[in-house]
Amino acid sequence: MDLKRLYSLAPHGLKSVLLNAYSAALYLERYGKSFRNISEQLESTQWYSADEIKKYQDSKLRELVQHAYKNVPYYHQMFNDLGLRAADIRTVNDLKKLPVLTKADIKTNSSLLLSRVHNANSRGMKFGGTSGTTGSPLRVGWSRHMRIFNNAIDWRQKRWAGIEPGEPIVMLLGQPIVQLDKTKPPFWQQDYVQNFLWMSAFHLHADYMPMYVEKILSFRPSAVEGYPSTLFEFAKFLIRTGKKIQVKAVFCSSEPLHKHYRETIEQAFGCKVFDFYGLAERTIFATQCREHAGQHLNFEYGISELLDEEGNDALGQEGVLVTTSLENFGMPLIRYQVSDRTMLIDEPCACGRAMPRMREVVSKYEDMIYRVDGTAISPSILTHPFKLIESINQSQIVQLDAHSILIKIVKADGYNKNDERQLLAAFRARVGEDMQVSVQFFDHLPRDSSGKFRWVINQTTKKTKHLHH
Ligand SMILES: [Zn+2]
Repeated sequence: MDLKRLYSLAPHGLKSVLLNAYSAALYLERYGKSFRNISEQLESTQWYSADEIKKYQDSKLRELVQHAYKNVPYYHQMFNDLGLRAADIRTVNDLKKLPVLTKADIKTNSSLLLSRVHNANSRGMKFGGTSGTTGSPLRVGWSRHMRIFNNAIDWRQKRWAGIEPGEPIVMLLGQPIVQLDKTKPPFWQQDYVQNFLWMSAFHLHADYMPMYVEKILSFRPSAVEGYPSTLFEFAKFLIRTGKKIQVKAVFCSSEPLHKHYRETIEQAFGCKVFDFYGLAERTIFATQCREHAGQHLNFEYGISELLDEEGNDALGQEGVLVTTSLENFGMPLIRYQVSDRTMLIDEPCACGRAMPRMREVVSKYEDMIYRVDGTAISPSILTHPFKLIESINQSQIVQLDAHSILIKIVKADGYNKNDERQLLAAFRARVGEDMQVSVQFFDHLPRDSSGKFRWVINQTTKKTKHLHH
């Protein structure tokens, strides 16, 4: 039996033991000596001048390309086919000699993209999934170093907000922390190792919100982290009932942070919102400093190019994000094209850091799905069941009415009944057992009239009622 299933079946007390044992194991890896060393470096590199940033990235890129040519079959073949040597890529500008890597390329070549040295020593690698909002799941691998580095960058942004490791943080994310059909508190689990209070986002509806408030106040958090749509609903409740949860910072990501979301959340929590952008592909991590003017592209983490339709630098205009990880040597993704569009900000940031900035990505807009009892479920939460199911080429979620949801699927090779059972079980755990969920297969899924693909569509009129305020 796997750990997730064991956890889901365990009673509350045992869940707490399991969660803390798991957290303790992770802690050794993610907060150990390497973490402290990397964090210390990141404290100084954040003040690099534009020139130092360029030198840093060029040198790191040469190291990455040499490794990829030598140890990653996909790149070895590509360089040979193009008649290039690793030494031909000397600077960030030289990246344009290489083609863009698409999601489809990764899907077709996922095992060829793994480093032979890292994968031979597979205990160092971990795999996870992303379904993204295009509804096409992707399996990606992270080296041990990548996982630690990711944690260090995450903590640097928290430090920018005045939060240090060990300070209490409330986490309101998509993990099924407690049984969905639970009707009595606790709807949370305390992680004593990291000092996080993991709270179920699924139970956060009007009836239970007073209990959440009480628990959070007694936990006395320094910060709160969650999805914008979830925090927005909660913030509205706090304001409506005249309650305030005063923290130093709120962190959010994965969904667009609309202006009225930000204002409402900042009012309810009495602090600024730090809106960050990251990907499971680990090629880009963009974070906000105290100026809250766009997001800094953490240059140590990866290289971000912004390109126009012809593949040239999109100077002063909106473009497509093409990203290269500088730290994930286990599965190096070079020039990975992200489906999001944004714009670079040219002026230097008032915080004094020279690291480049981009405008917040707003293209990830999706409808909301509602459970039978009317609770809103954010699209980010719905992506979880699709992670790790590689036999799905594309998917779309359509709420037909208050009681039924249709999952549209474009199958890939190897799709089987077992995948479907696993998907449906995980999906129902999030939308509720009283929701009718059906699956239908398609050859392709069309885009909407604006040319955008919407992963979540709500056909009921309810959403206008709820999203309007
Ligand atoms: Zn700044």
